[in-house]
Amino acid sequence: MKKPNEERIAKLVKELLVELGEDPSREGLLKTPSRVAKSLAFLTRGYSQTPRKVINGAVFSSGTNHMILLRDVEIYSMCEHHMLPFFGRCAIGYIAQGRVLGVSKLARIVDCYARRLQIQERLTEQIAEAVRDAVGAEGVGVVMECRHLCMMMRGVEKQNSVMTTSAVLGSFRTDEKVRGEFLSLVNR
Ligand code: ZN
Repeated sequence: MKKPNEERIAKLVKELLVELGEDPSREGLLKTPSRVAKSLAFLTRGYSQTPRKVINGAVFSSGTNHMILLRDVEIYSMCEHHMLPFFGRCAIGYIAQGRVLGVSKLARIVDCYARRLQIQERLTEQIAEAVRDAVGAEGVGVVMECRHLCMMMRGVEKQNSVMTTSAVLGSFRTDEKVRGEFLSLVNR
């Protein structure tokens, strides 16, 4: 996917400021359109990434067939309905079948999908599927907890609600014991 045209975005932001009743020529706002354009390009950079690109070959042979778990991976994303941030953390677990991912690559997979306009449900599933596909894991589980600014700052204005989503694939879905082990590790 092509990189966004920051100059054009800046122009649109300037128009947006006028429409909102602001004066884009006042000192504090002079550089705002170009700052917002840069910021938006950064926050949506996942569109120009794929799991394959961010993993970049960091898949290693390993005899382990135990559960591998990474917890407290920070999530920063933007909801596709309001373009407002949602943020929190997720845990990713998988059972390898001879191949494992470099640990930082799990976090990179998260960002590859989080840095797009998202809904939390889809983000959770995409991460699980990407991990499964990257190493051919026999099972994958992802649990995510996020706060959504579109709920906190507007709409129902609920400040303390946390949304939890999960996606389980393979043995994490079919084997109750495996799922139980995953959830107990996540909640420890
Ligand atoms: Zn929203």
